[in-house]
Amino acid sequence: MRLHRALMPDYNRRATACWWLLVVLGTMLWLASLAQLAVQAPAVWLSVAVGMGLAMLAGLFPVRIPGTRHSFVASDVFIFLLLLLHGTAAAAVAVAGDAFLGSMRTTKRWTSRIASPAISTLAIVLAGSLLEAASVALGLPAPGAGGTASAGSSPSADGTVALMALTMVTGLLYFLVSATLFAGLLRLKRLEPFFQASDWVGAFRWVGMAYAGSAALATLLFTAYRLAGAGVWMVMLPLLAMLLVALHLYFKQQESMLELREHSAAAVAREADAHQRHLRELQASEQRFHGAFTHAAIGMALLSLEGRVIQGNAAFSALLGRTGAAVQGQGFGSFVHAEHTASLAALLERAARGEFDEGSAELRFVAPDGRISWAALHFAAFTSAEAGEPCLIVQAQDVTSRRAAEEQLQHLAFHDTLTGLPNRRRFMQCLESAVARAREDRHYVYAVMFLDFDRFKLVNDSLGHGAGDALLVQLARRLQEKLRPSDIVARLGGDEFALLTERIGHERDAVALAGRLMEALRAPFLLAGQELQISASIGITFSSLGYTSAEAVLRDADTAMYKAKADGRARVALFDSGLHADVSRRLRLEGDLRRALDSGGLSVAYQPVFELQRGTSLGRLRSLEALVRWQHATEGELAPAAFLPIAEESGLMPRVSEFVLHTACRQVRAWQLSHAAWAELTLSVNVAAEDLATPGFATRVQAALLESGLRGEHLTLELTENILMSRIEGAMATLADLRRLGVRVAVDDFGTGYSSLSYLARLPIDMFKIDRSFVARLNQDADQVSVVRAILQLGQSLRKAIVAEGIESSGQLDQLLAMGCQFGQGHHLAEPLGVAATTALLVRERSTEGGASRLH
Ligand code: C2E
Ligand code: MG
Ligand code: MG
Repeated sequence: MRLHRALMPDYNRRATACWWLLVVLGTMLWLASLAQLAVQAPAVWLSVAVGMGLAMLAGLFPVRIPGTRHSFVASDVFIFLLLLLHGTAAAAVAVAGDAFLGSMRTTKRWTSRIASPAISTLAIVLAGSLLEAASVALGLPAPGAGGTASAGSSPSADGTVALMALTMVTGLLYFLVSATLFAGLLRLKRLEPFFQASDWVGAFRWVGMAYAGSAALATLLFTAYRLAGAGVWMVMLPLLAMLLVALHLYFKQQESMLELREHSAAAVAREADAHQRHLRELQASEQRFHGAFTHAAIGMALLSLEGRVIQGNAAFSALLGRTGAAVQGQGFGSFVHAEHTASLAALLERAARGEFDEGSAELRFVAPDGRISWAALHFAAFTSAEAGEPCLIVQAQDVTSRRAAEEQLQHLAFHDTLTGLPNRRRFMQCLESAVARAREDRHYVYAVMFLDFDRFKLVNDSLGHGAGDALLVQLARRLQEKLRPSDIVARLGGDEFALLTERIGHERDAVALAGRLMEALRAPFLLAGQELQISASIGITFSSLGYTSAEAVLRDADTAMYKAKADGRARVALFDSGLHADVSRRLRLEGDLRRALDSGGLSVAYQPVFELQRGTSLGRLRSLEALVRWQHATEGELAPAAFLPIAEESGLMPRVSEFVLHTACRQVRAWQLSHAAWAELTLSVNVAAEDLATPGFATRVQAALLESGLRGEHLTLELTENILMSRIEGAMATLADLRRLGVRVAVDDFGTGYSSLSYLARLPIDMFKIDRSFVARLNQDADQVSVVRAILQLGQSLRKAIVAEGIESSGQLDQLLAMGCQFGQGHHLAEPLGVAATTALLVRERSTEGGASRLH
């Protein structure tokens, strides 16, 4: 049992029984065969030994049948030969030896090494016995008799064929029995039925044939031996050996070729594998690229040369504000803003002609919802491997925000930040193209207006720059409202605006437009809760003057504007060539005035104000009005109207005022001190609008008083009605400050403005000066008489002193006296006088004690 477990662990009971049966039977038959052989002649032993040796030797040269697991062993030829020569016993002895040796080579298991010879013995004994029986039955020479058959006894042809057939059957039988027993034993081990026909079929094809072939060969050798005797072995055996070796080598070579083929087949398979792998890698790479294409942040697309979108990624369609489906297959041009369609078409055409490898462009796209986006595009010509037709690869980068920033910068560069209007640079560009067009087309007519707001500086100075800015914004808006969309209004700087109106039918249309603009400005502006009125002076020039440069156009419009200002502001002036002279004079005067201020070229004249009285003698001299004078080197003495507007425009007004105030205060104080009679002499000084608006004006007045020693109550400041009313709110505080200094206030040129009575009552005003235009027409116009009377009554009821200005005749004087006017001024009484003449007048006045005779 121990031996069984050690040697046959895989053998079940039935298999074990079968093994033992086969081994015992085989061994018995082998022993019996040995016994049978023992009685034979020693030559037979030798023959059997040689045959067995050859069989064993042949077993060392198995001929592998290419492409199968099977091999042909020539051993069987010798076994069958022994069978034919010496009978079954000899074959059985030899087969056992051969099988044992064979199994020693092929297996390590002793069960197989023992079973193999036993089964072979069994099979050969069975087959051999049947062959012997059949030979006897068929009258053929019985196997075993061969060994004794004398050489040369020729076998019959029929006998040989029959023997051959029989031997072949025997061979087959031998094969079948041994195959069945071997397979059966294996099947029993695996607990399967002992016999299965399929075992034969599988093995029969080759091995069965080989056995039959071996049997046939053995028969042939046997027959040859019988014909030719033992010499045949000398020939046949080497031949057989050679044949076997040749076959062995041939099949070996076949095998190696097969192996080679298998090898190359493996190589092919490996190559196919590699190819497959390569394909997979390619697919993976393509997927990666597809992924990269699809998910790239940059827009990418393939365009056909007709401009059709072959394929586009998500970023590309997002850039176009569309879905992928809405982009695919569509004409790229349909997404592009109309202004780029032509350039895109040109680019595609160049690409189609092959004149284009790559290029860039920045294009604007319109999304279905109207949203505009900008993209920087790079186009590259490309021929796809599969499609084979050339196309364009487009890379698109969204540059909308950069473009927006650029546009904003552009806007900033060409627009005024405060009003949003085009600036000077932009205006000049437009004007340049208008000038160029007008030179080419004589039917093209344009006009340029130069607008400057009158006394704008006062707004800035009195209400602050914030209010000034707010006013400019409102002004810009009001101007724009009156213009056609094609007109261009620009802010050139400060309160200067320019306007270009093109394609006007006639020059008077532009003048009418200027009138409409003035009209629009007339309505008051609301600024920080205050109503404010402002007027503009407008200068116009026309393309008909044949300009060749934009600068010249603007210069002339500017000149005309100065003319409008010089003519009294709030008006329109057209440019004519004579204006050049005016402007250059104005510029020259500005420089001269500056120098005059530095070098003391200005002086002050004094016009006395008298108490009115009938008769030839003058009334009492009450006061002196300081009037600025300028003795110009070439133009002689200039009246204030000739140079004060220039002083105002050029910012020299404060210096002029300062000069007059200090000079007059000092002078009047000197006269006061010169004689006790003039100790109470009063002074009137005219105040410009700008003075009132300048912060610290009251302080400056105080400084002049302190410096001169004049008392506040001896000084009266004259403000024109227009100045006072246009900046009444700002003036209030200044007036209050002045009042604290004891300074009085007079309303000059009264009646020319639109004073509100409620204001007049509230304001700290001491005196009204009736404008000389009323006085001048007193003796001509009955209406004027009633106006003057009304003013006088108003003054009396408000308890203000009334001074009549510009009395030029005794008639006027009489009329004024008749109406109850107390004080007067005018050439009829005294002209403005220099210091010496005034001193003389004062001396005369003192000596006559108010009864100085009239100068004229
Ligand atoms: P105003 O203050 O009304 O001064 C009176 C003007 O009338 C003076 O002109 C004077 O010469 C003129 N006049 C006097 N009597 C007669 C007359 O009988 N007939 C006529 N036709 N005119 C007469 P002027 O000196 O040319 O000054 C004109 C204006 O200039 C002044 O009008 C005043 O508003 C302004 N002005 C003069 N001097 C100064 C000054 O120092 N500072 C300021 N801010 N304005 C001044
Ligand atoms: Mg005055
Ligand atoms: Mg006046």
